[in-house]
Amino acid sequence: MKNSFEIGKIKGISIEINISWIVIFALLTYALATSYLPMNFEGVAATTAWMIAVIMALLFFSSVLLHELAHSLVALREGTEVKKITLFIFGGLAQIEQDADEPGKEFRIAIAGPATSLILGGVFLLAGELLARLGGPALIYVPLGYLSMVNFILALFNLVPAFPLDGGRVLRAIIWKKTKDRKKATRIASMTGTFFGYLLIFNGVFLAFSGNFLNGLWMLFIGWFITQAAQTSYQQVMMSDLFNKICVREFMTKNVVEVAYFTDIKTLTEDYFYKYKYSIFPVRRINEIMGIIGVEQVRRLDRTLWDETTVGSMAQPLGEDLVVAPGDCVSKAMEKVFRNGVGRVLVMEEGELLGIVSRTDILNYLHIHSMLGSGKDRVGLDLDKGEDR
Ligand SMILES: [Zn+2]
Repeated sequence: MKNSFEIGKIKGISIEINISWIVIFALLTYALATSYLPMNFEGVAATTAWMIAVIMALLFFSSVLLHELAHSLVALREGTEVKKITLFIFGGLAQIEQDADEPGKEFRIAIAGPATSLILGGVFLLAGELLARLGGPALIYVPLGYLSMVNFILALFNLVPAFPLDGGRVLRAIIWKKTKDRKKATRIASMTGTFFGYLLIFNGVFLAFSGNFLNGLWMLFIGWFITQAAQTSYQQVMMSDLFNKICVREFMTKNVVEVAYFTDIKTLTEDYFYKYKYSIFPVRRINEIMGIIGVEQVRRLDRTLWDETTVGSMAQPLGEDLVVAPGDCVSKAMEKVFRNGVGRVLVMEEGELLGIVSRTDILNYLHIHSMLGSGKDRVGLDLDKGEDR
């Protein structure tokens, strides 16, 4: 997430705070100190109210963090990498690296968060009750009751069966297990997500117009957020499914134009870059591909040296992230294409160059797919008509 900074690490998971979180933290503290506490405790001193408000807000966000941490720790135990947890305006977000590959895993990761919130709610409730019976100060046990309620709400809200909320993931896991069809399960869970999102939006609008403006606006925001999230996460799941099925062999552009290693840069510019309008060429030395040469590299070379410099002397050697095998799935190629800084990968088999896959190929495929719907039977779609390769 943009505008986030790390506050610490737990079991290798980076804990981040987003700027938007600070706003919500300040608002909550302010509301507690100036409204909730003075309303419940007449004549409470302002400094006491602010002190308790800050502690309450901190405990509230620790609860959110523990909820996310529960997801993350279960995910780690299930063998999934977790990069970071970000606290932001709508709560917390654990960045779990990949979707669970079987419904049981998904269920356990999803349920861990709400379960933790329920337990926290119980603990705060018990502590508050105990303190109240022992005659402890109301200034402590009333806030404990509030924190217990907040955790119960957190658990219930997240259990709403709206994908990608926890409840939606639980729902998806159950349907997935029953039907053995992950795609169908994702579709149903996303549809309920969109439905709940709209329900919240309508409710929010209604609330806002019936006088409860702030709560209505807040509900509208959350509803909008859920609707968006349901739709984008559905598309993401579908895309990654699609790209996990198609292999590079079917997707690549064949008949790649190569340039010989002894070619000078001037010739490369005139007879290759301008002629073919590709920004990158594989470089061949006798019977092997030794690397690639691109416009970017040439641009940095002094023009007076173009005649005497050979392509071979400037070629970028073929590293791991520039090469895929024809049997690799497109998602693997995509990962490298978007990461390697070149925007392309060469498809190689036993030292032979079979084809190339570019960022444009992938984006065009996505575009066509979004226009024509599921086109996985038409993967052969001809994408090699002079793309920006
Ligand atoms: Zn959760």
